[in-house]
Amino acid sequence: MPRPADQTLGVALDWIEAHCVVPDGFNRGRDFTLYDYQLEYFSNFYLVRGDAEWIPDEPVLGPAFVYRRGLLIGPQKLGKGPTTAAHICLEGVGPALFAGWAGRDDGYSCRDHGCTCGWERPYEFGEPMGMSWPTPLIQITALSEEQTDNIYGALRPMIECGPLVDVIPKTGEQFIRLPGGGRVDTVTSSAMSRLGQRVTFAPQDEVGLWTKTNRMMAVADTQYRGLAGMGGRASLTSNAWDPAESSVAQVQFESKSKDIYRQFHQPPSNLSYKNKVERRKIHTIVYGEALKSRGGHVDLDAIEAEAFDLIERDPAQAERFFGNRIVAGSDSWIDPLVWNELEQTDSPFAPGDEITVGFDGSLRDDSTAIVGCRISDGLLFLLGVWEAPLDPDQAAEWEVPVGEVDAAVASIFKTYKVERMYCDPAYWQDIVGRWAAEHGEKVVIEWWTNRERAMVAANERFHTAVATGELHFQPDDDEILSRHVKNARRKITRSGVLIRKDRPGSPNKIDAAVSAVLAYEARGDAVAAGALQPKKKKKFVSF
Ligand SMILES: [Zn+2]
Repeated sequence: MPRPADQTLGVALDWIEAHCVVPDGFNRGRDFTLYDYQLEYFSNFYLVRGDAEWIPDEPVLGPAFVYRRGLLIGPQKLGKGPTTAAHICLEGVGPALFAGWAGRDDGYSCRDHGCTCGWERPYEFGEPMGMSWPTPLIQITALSEEQTDNIYGALRPMIECGPLVDVIPKTGEQFIRLPGGGRVDTVTSSAMSRLGQRVTFAPQDEVGLWTKTNRMMAVADTQYRGLAGMGGRASLTSNAWDPAESSVAQVQFESKSKDIYRQFHQPPSNLSYKNKVERRKIHTIVYGEALKSRGGHVDLDAIEAEAFDLIERDPAQAERFFGNRIVAGSDSWIDPLVWNELEQTDSPFAPGDEITVGFDGSLRDDSTAIVGCRISDGLLFLLGVWEAPLDPDQAAEWEVPVGEVDAAVASIFKTYKVERMYCDPAYWQDIVGRWAAEHGEKVVIEWWTNRERAMVAANERFHTAVATGELHFQPDDDEILSRHVKNARRKITRSGVLIRKDRPGSPNKIDAAVSAVLAYEARGDAVAAGALQPKKKKKFVSF
């Protein structure tokens, strides 16, 4: 027998409009009317399974609903903060749970639920009825405090400026106490220990930034486990994500689970975000009813101005943030325009120069690069590179010619005065060991790039030197060094910024950038050890 039709818990949606108010702007305190996209999201989030059974002593909580969690993707300023705030109000003190199927003359009355506002809503025969959580425990969760503040900052006025102030008399700076011993807390990655096991609702914000590296993927999993134990549910919100990040947003969106509701209305793919007229069309589509011209809060011209501003610096991010599209190739580590300014063609590398060297080797997949850095002025130059062929069939056969690399290193030591050479020994430990034996153990030094803190610090020094113009580079014939530096993407970790390729397996290599970081790091250490101080003249003693 097919299961009876699923039905939305309509009282939940109506309750929001009757109790939540606009938290900010000129309409602060006015009735909160749901936009189409919010109605669509909540209608699905609160879709009750047609076969849900009402057991008065042991109510079915989350599992009464079709979806175990929801994912709402939308552009910047669409109002995801207030949406989540309203969602929290409902899960905190409104009819967010299934309470059986309505008989004749059933109705919801605020009076019976601790609210003095007088709101009443009759049920239609056979529709799902609602009730509130006895002890709601809600954790507003985000990567940073700024993001949790965003939601919390909308939540407080939503309660304080409307009828909910009678139900929730006191809202604090840090948390909100709810009737029945419940509460609303905020949690970020820095407060992992506060991840409660008894959570009934977890609004997870900006999940496009939640990754394995910043440990938010573990936060998400912990919360999902806790929620499952309580019969609670999670609501995830985000901008469109960068597909190179493998974020929680991406994983949840691409998951094969049928019980995750996903709402992500991307603009038609034939419209180009680079073209001003088409960009306006894209904004008109993705902001829809939220536009001022359609009675909403979003000014189309203001969005265009902000998007244009961002396009100059990071077009991919602009398209994700305002165009609501999944776009790769974002988060450049070094601003290409700033890098171009650092090109230096006068006083090039010359034989006999005192230099440091950075070496990042691979065997098959990536390239191997050697970069030099002149001690006197911080000038970088590509001393050697071995790249796999672009053709995938040829690349499969290819291996770094170790003999050539070895010969190149010997030639570098003959040509220049190498003060220090930092080598990532991964795959090359034996050869690096031999170089150290030949040229001195205090000159050729193993420098493991997989040490997160050390690498973060080295990246930061390099990045700062680029920003302040303290380093320069001498262009190589194929502009490989520049290409690798510009290919590098930021990877945010708990310790700071690492660099990565635009995606795993990408042909856009970054090895010369890593070698440049090592060469510059070696120069910094050499200078700290006194390499720039005038050398003592050799004394000639005459007899
Ligand atoms: Zn009420």
